[in-house]
Amino acid sequence: ADRPANLNQMLQQAVTRNGQGEAVVCDDVRLTYDAFHAQVRAVAAGMAAHGVQQGDCVALVLGNAPEFLIALMATLHLGAIAVPINVREGTPELAHILNDCGAVLVVHDTDVAAKLPAADAVPQVSNRFCVGGAVDGSQDYAALSTQGALTDAAHVNPEDTAVILYTSGTTGQPKGAMLAHLNIIHSTMHFEMCMELGARERSLLAVPASHVTGLVATLFTMLRTAGCSVILRSFRADTFLELAAREKVTQTLMVPAMYNLFLLRCNVADYDLSQWRIGGYGGAPMAHSTIAELAQKLPNLALVNAYGATEVSSPATIMPLGQGHIRADSVGHAVPCAEIRIVDETGHDVATGEHGELWIKGPMVVPGYWNNPEKTAAEFHDGFWKSGDVGSRDADGFIQLHDRRKDMIIRGGYNIFSAEVENALTAHPAVIECAAIGRPDPVLGEKMQVFVHSSDPNLDAETIKAFCAARLADYKTPDFVTFSAEPLPRNANGKIVKKALRDMV
Ligand code: ATP
Repeated sequence: ADRPANLNQMLQQAVTRNGQGEAVVCDDVRLTYDAFHAQVRAVAAGMAAHGVQQGDCVALVLGNAPEFLIALMATLHLGAIAVPINVREGTPELAHILNDCGAVLVVHDTDVAAKLPAADAVPQVSNRFCVGGAVDGSQDYAALSTQGALTDAAHVNPEDTAVILYTSGTTGQPKGAMLAHLNIIHSTMHFEMCMELGARERSLLAVPASHVTGLVATLFTMLRTAGCSVILRSFRADTFLELAAREKVTQTLMVPAMYNLFLLRCNVADYDLSQWRIGGYGGAPMAHSTIAELAQKLPNLALVNAYGATEVSSPATIMPLGQGHIRADSVGHAVPCAEIRIVDETGHDVATGEHGELWIKGPMVVPGYWNNPEKTAAEFHDGFWKSGDVGSRDADGFIQLHDRRKDMIIRGGYNIFSAEVENALTAHPAVIECAAIGRPDPVLGEKMQVFVHSSDPNLDAETIKAFCAARLADYKTPDFVTFSAEPLPRNANGKIVKKALRDMV
């Protein structure tokens, strides 16, 4: 199909192409595109009746559910801006985000009601709607779809902001990346091209809808293909596999930890996953041992590493189909419209194979952060987003990602990429997950501390060190090892929170 001018047109194209086909499936809810579109228009009418105008922000503090997608598209229908917020955020974060974006209306889950800031702490929020029914301070969301007059979609320019996503803040205060309609449309087309998606794909939403990956790789990309979003409310390894089999899911994009969990807890041979062609992953590196196990147990699944970020509306690089198992060292090639520079400290391009910071430019790169000219000036330059990630590019154009600049450990002048150590250590059969961080040291500057979540209570530090020493250069052997019976702390998007680990030492 032709490239739509905005996301409302993209939805309209899907309705025209596949009105009777499924748009959304979740538990016992199944909506065709026609039914979905009717609900979108009805909720938009209710929002307008409650004062939402073009350019206003509507906050969605919703978990994975059909209402998320309906309220999202209803907001866009009015030319308003959707601000998805993870339901796990606490009251201070919610207050910060609601005030920063100036949301006028909030749609939220029942569980979130008690955490929402008091009315006088977020004075511009004039209406709150709760999906589970009216609660203290919030009206029943169901009433939204029965109020107001239906209208056509607002006139929206491609450059207008569609969504503001606050980055998870693993590295500081949340910043609101402004994703324009055009940014998101380009991203969905990159997935469509690179994953060779056809019409009517079925994608399983396993990561939070409020994060760029779930939002773009599944929800918007399915609208692009007139396909179906199969929504998993919360991740469990066995329910994930059951749903993928029952709903004949063809594509996913999720974090590596989810693959690890189902390999650890389930027997994949018990499920009919014959339709599942594209196993996308991103957000963090996948251990080579996991890649090998997936290749062996799910030989028909193309593993597709996708490297991206909120600031680039999802992927900047994607692994070419069929290369996932072979090029386990790489995050793939730059997506079709991306220009990627790899630069040294002075902003000059490094030579092929040399390490530098990845800078990314293209129509999927956001114009900046909402209400934050300082951070925008600091992190964007000449159309490029400065990722803060250290990478290199080989002669075949494959990009290697080594570490976040701030997660790199500098031990006695040697740079150690934490991902390399973690990858080596995860190959140990008793290591479920691990993380390497730098620990301040008066002599070497930093020493290396690893945290290990293990299935074996007898595993000791000497074994861990010897295991690393046998596989890595000597300066990459951990100095300190801490064992944890519990899984390592992860944020709402499934990433290990290294800051929490640093605070512990
Ligand atoms: P903050 O920017 O505040 O730290 P966040 O990083 O979690 O929050 P995201 O936009 O979700 O925000 O994450 C983007 C980062 O995730 C990238 O810059 C990169 O460091 C990492 N990442 C993304 N994809 C991959 C991948 N395929 N392999 C390894 N790391 C990845």
